[in-house]
Amino acid sequence: MTLEPGTSVQYVKGIGPRLAEILASKGIHTVEDLLYYLPFRYEDRINPRSIAELKPGEMATLLAEVRGSGLFRTRRQGVQIFQMTAGQGTSAINCLWFNGAYLKDKFKPGQTVALYGRVEEPKYGRRLQLMQPQFEIVYDPDEPGSSEQHGRPGGNGIPESLEMGRIVPVYESAGQGKLTSRWFRRIMHATLRDLTPNLPDGIPPAIVRRLELVPRREAFVQAHFPDESVPLEDLDRARTPAHRRLIFEELFFLEIGLELKRRALRAQPGLSFEINDGVRQAVKRILPFHPTAAQKRVLKEIADDMQRPFPMRRLLQGDVGSGKTIVALQGAIIAIENGYQAALMAPTEILAAQHYLSARRILEPAGYRVLLLTGSLDDDHKREIRRHIAQGNAQLVIGTHALIEEKVEFAKPGLIIVDEQHRFGVLQRFRLMKKAAQAEPDVLVMTATPIPRTLALTLYGDLDISVLDELPPGRTPMVTRRISEDRANEVWDFLKKQVAKGNQAFVVYPVIEEQEEPETKKTLEQPNLLAETRTGLKAATKMYDELRKKILPGLRVGLLHGRLRPDEKEEVMRRFQAGEIDVLVSTTVIEVGVDVPNANLMIIEHAERFGLAQLHQLRGRIGRGAAKSFCVLMTGGKVSPEAERRLDAMVRTTDGFEIAELDLELRGPGEFFGTKQSGLPSFRVANLLRDRELLETAKREAAALVDGSAKDISKEDVTRVMAHLRSHWQRRYGLVEVG
Ligand code: ADP
Ligand code: MG
Repeated sequence: MTLEPGTSVQYVKGIGPRLAEILASKGIHTVEDLLYYLPFRYEDRINPRSIAELKPGEMATLLAEVRGSGLFRTRRQGVQIFQMTAGQGTSAINCLWFNGAYLKDKFKPGQTVALYGRVEEPKYGRRLQLMQPQFEIVYDPDEPGSSEQHGRPGGNGIPESLEMGRIVPVYESAGQGKLTSRWFRRIMHATLRDLTPNLPDGIPPAIVRRLELVPRREAFVQAHFPDESVPLEDLDRARTPAHRRLIFEELFFLEIGLELKRRALRAQPGLSFEINDGVRQAVKRILPFHPTAAQKRVLKEIADDMQRPFPMRRLLQGDVGSGKTIVALQGAIIAIENGYQAALMAPTEILAAQHYLSARRILEPAGYRVLLLTGSLDDDHKREIRRHIAQGNAQLVIGTHALIEEKVEFAKPGLIIVDEQHRFGVLQRFRLMKKAAQAEPDVLVMTATPIPRTLALTLYGDLDISVLDELPPGRTPMVTRRISEDRANEVWDFLKKQVAKGNQAFVVYPVIEEQEEPETKKTLEQPNLLAETRTGLKAATKMYDELRKKILPGLRVGLLHGRLRPDEKEEVMRRFQAGEIDVLVSTTVIEVGVDVPNANLMIIEHAERFGLAQLHQLRGRIGRGAAKSFCVLMTGGKVSPEAERRLDAMVRTTDGFEIAELDLELRGPGEFFGTKQSGLPSFRVANLLRDRELLETAKREAAALVDGSAKDISKEDVTRVMAHLRSHWQRRYGLVEVG
């Protein structure tokens, strides 16, 4: 039968209902889903290597014949090792698998095996070894037909099959190894053979021509069974014309979806704030300092949006300390002066409290009414605040999640400011907006995570982006040093000197108590951290005691960590802010947004344990005042090569974007954004890091198509794009709703 893209996989020859179920668990339901299950690696079995020419250290693909195998135990450690000897003519190689008892009955002499693994020098003897190679039995003389003949007629005496004499695709197995790479190869081959010749293609012909995209069907064929002329490197880097086409397509439809969403939003009725001289005066009046050029520019972008009659959805990106808060407050004044209310939502109680304090300091002298609503307030108190909000007495409301969780009704919501958005997740952002019964309020999202531009375009494709790319004046450059733990005494002496000069300091630890996991596990790297913790990872509480009693007697030392009650945290922060505490010992709870300009020294112990973004965020807590500031990265114990790169980067630069790029490279986009929370779509073939350039192209083409500026794209093309989007991609991108 002819397979259509939408045909259920169980109609593919070789897949029944049972195997279809296993595929379903991998998200493969239709023939098209199956085709997108691309190989993760390719093997060159056209010119398999000869054993005689192998060099230790290289990765090699071999075809060889099984000569014999057996299980044995190492004398010293008693580890079971399975050894299989494979040969070509007079040469042979030993393949070893640790704990390989499960392979006992796998191999029989006379079989042909494909092997892929690292070549190593043997401990004894002269025969080279392959350690834990991946393998496939590609021919078994006892099983006729085990090597099915497929594809082109043979040449060169090499049997033409799916397994040999070609570039062979390697797939991730499924169903606990039940569906092997070989199985996928056969199934893909059958699928492509029976696939309809007219595979629908949603990309307009003009774009196909402009970007020289190969036809869709050919792209699938070539991605699964590449011609032998295709360089293996291009395949492994997903840089063949076939890969380019499939990746572009995926990104193009994502960007179309985002563009549509953005337009749908623009079409909704929003508030149109008036900005007259009076409002302008009010906005200027609250400024405690001269704004930077970047702050002025961004305020203008925000003000322009607020004037327009459609809802603002703007992302304000700015490195730590770039002065986002004051700009956001100026936006709030525009709303308030127009008779509306503003809300500012922070990710933690500490931050909410801090915003509250600084907002009051700035706004109350000008006569504005600011209130704080957090989860830890007692019920009576909350009720009263909710009443003030509902009656419109509160002009600016600052809060945490409580703002969306409690039954808060704003009398006249005008502007919603969300701080550190990436911690909230995308969905919650929308829940907050929906609270408003009237016209859609404007939304300003602030983030200190410097997101590389291309990624921001995707992740926040439906938002407009403003960037604060200039630090306020008067900041002396920060000095970052890396020092080993055994020189801790020098560091403490330095701290004492700083405090004697009237400055304050942070001392940061990865854990609260010994024998526990770090507070933010996700960003710390070592999987065996628990075991190591028991053997001396310094903990905040213990060090707090030691610093207070032994190391820094006479100094006022405070302790802050995530397990304190909210009011306790608030009290500690207040005292630190007021200068009643000299040294604040803390965990990463201070990571985001804490603002104490008088603190000019941060000592981070076990700095090798922290993620790069986290170190940068932490360091951003200092260097906010006029005094020269210092960040000391103390390391104790072994530092992995990756940790070395993180620490190097920290010492080398304070540029948030540079650090973000490296962080992204080290961790990959999923981790970078905190996986699930991020709202990142899960891609089939695209990889945001690898495919940034294609993403830019896709974005440009999608925007031109949606706004009608692409002259070579017809109405029919657009209709087809929309239909294709709806039928093929909407399910994929849960967030992209196509109207
Ligand atoms: P962030 O962007 O990290 O939220 P903040 O808004 O907390 O940064 O500002 C960091 C510090 O810089 C604050 O102490 C703030 O008062 C100060 N600041 C912001 N803008 C200016 C400016 N234009 N001139 C001087 N100080 C400023
Ligand atoms: Mg901030």
